[in-house]
Amino acid sequence: HEAVIDFRDKFSDGWGTTYQVERAGFDQRLVEAATAQGARVDFGVTVTAFRPDTQRPCLTYLDEDGQETPLTARFVLDASGYGRVLARLLALGRDPRLEPRMALFSHVEDHIHDPTFDRDKILIGVHPEHASLWYWLIPFSHGRASVGVVGDAETLTAQGNAAEQRWQRLVDAEPRFRALLRDARPIRPVASLQGYSADVTRLHGPGYALLGNAGEFLDPVFSSGVTIALRSAHQAAPLVERQLRGDGVDWQHEFERPLRQGIETFRAFVDAWYDGRLPAIIFHDAHPASLKRMISSVLAGYAWDTANPFVSAARRRLTTLAELCGHVPAASGDST
Ligand SMILES: Cc1cc2nc3c(=O)[nH]c(=O)nc-3n(C[C@H](O)[C@H](O)[C@H](O)COP(=O)(O)OP(=O)(O)OC[C@H]3O[C@@H](n4cnc5c(N)ncnc54)[C@H](O)[C@@H]3O)c2cc1C
Repeated sequence: HEAVIDFRDKFSDGWGTTYQVERAGFDQRLVEAATAQGARVDFGVTVTAFRPDTQRPCLTYLDEDGQETPLTARFVLDASGYGRVLARLLALGRDPRLEPRMALFSHVEDHIHDPTFDRDKILIGVHPEHASLWYWLIPFSHGRASVGVVGDAETLTAQGNAAEQRWQRLVDAEPRFRALLRDARPIRPVASLQGYSADVTRLHGPGYALLGNAGEFLDPVFSSGVTIALRSAHQAAPLVERQLRGDGVDWQHEFERPLRQGIETFRAFVDAWYDGRLPAIIFHDAHPASLKRMISSVLAGYAWDTANPFVSAARRRLTTLAELCGHVPAASGDST
């Protein structure tokens, strides 16, 4: 089975294309842009302690010389990603309600010669025997690509002793990936990440709010991570500005609730991917164009557009459509 999803053909208004970028350069540009706007950026420091306070929250940071310094702020935004600084220091963590999974990934000089391969698109593959194992191939400019595999740790670790060996064996097991990447040369060690999903009981508190992965991370499957991170920052920035002016901000209603709504849409899609409903929908090729556009919209990142029925009632719609596509739900779970 093969299916092509074109994000330009979608329900919601907005961009239908994006950039496939290497993180190092992307992060560097973000830092340079923030600096150009007047932000001070300190590299090589680690936040080690935090005291919440409505007026004067205070954190402590450790520099490379081992020196600890207190820093009092008027408001703190935690964007520490997998560092999960405030979640750990304030014990905000909670069960992410997703099975722990593992990812093995690397960057390669891909040497893809196949003229039918479209470098402007991301290729997603599924393991021929283990249907819950999936692959990504994200081509960059300059002939490089990011190649990763995600699945349960037991199956992934059974592929060999070292991350390189596991990754290579898995790439070779998927016929399209094996053919495309037969001349590929890894240009950095294969990274291995396990149990990456995370969640917190709250995304804000006295004098602070959590952005991006410092709050919640679902799964790499629809590349929702950077979308959610940018969305959270975009939502928080004007609220911080208002708060610093002395105006009241209701962080629960103005920040957490609307942000969580889109995250829950992505969660419904992630759940539906792993329990087989979404693959049944995607590989069923006879949908009306209007339905395709609604699904394409969410996969393109428009998870906050409640005019889209696959946003406002994501779980119910996905379940119904999957059943119409012939998906038989597992006996134990009620996925609605
Ligand atoms: C296997 C995998 C593949 C992925 N692929 C994609 C993809 O293709 N597309 C996509 O959009 N997303 C992808 N993601 C998700 C994406 O990487 C994240 O969602 C995104 O980076 C989150 O951004 P962030 O700013 O919240 O955190 P991060 O990008 O993690 O940034 C956190 C920053 O905080 C700093 N920090 C951490 N701890 C401390 C501390 N104690 N003190 C000071 N600073 C600290 C770190 O050094 C870092 O600079 C993937 C995730 C995984 C696990």
